[in-house]
Amino acid sequence: MPPPNCEHFETGAEVAAPLDVCTSCVEIGSTWFHLRQCLNCGRTSCCDQSPNRHATGHFHATGHPMMRSAQPGEDWRWCFADELIYIPDGAGRYEIAED
Ligand SMILES: [Zn+2]
Ligand SMILES: [Zn+2]
Ligand SMILES: [Zn+2]
Repeated sequence: MPPPNCEHFETGAEVAAPLDVCTSCVEIGSTWFHLRQCLNCGRTSCCDQSPNRHATGHFHATGHPMMRSAQPGEDWRWCFADELIYIPDGAGRYEIAED
């Protein structure tokens, strides 16, 4: 049996589709590599391979733990608090990825 999802996985938030920009980067005239979306409030931010790492910054600023990839074709989620990766299990649910 896979381990159960962490307490943060179900955010109870309805988030809209992610933006196709990191607005924090746009504001400072910077660029990003990949985009992530906060599943607690819907904010789109840039990933840890980006120079400004706004998704991680958003977690530290707000405590919002759950995010997902906003890259086309990518479907995985991440809990900052527990450092867990969730991947689709093929049946419409997510399970914790074993590393
Ligand atoms: Zn968690
Ligand atoms: Zn950014
Ligand atoms: Zn958030």
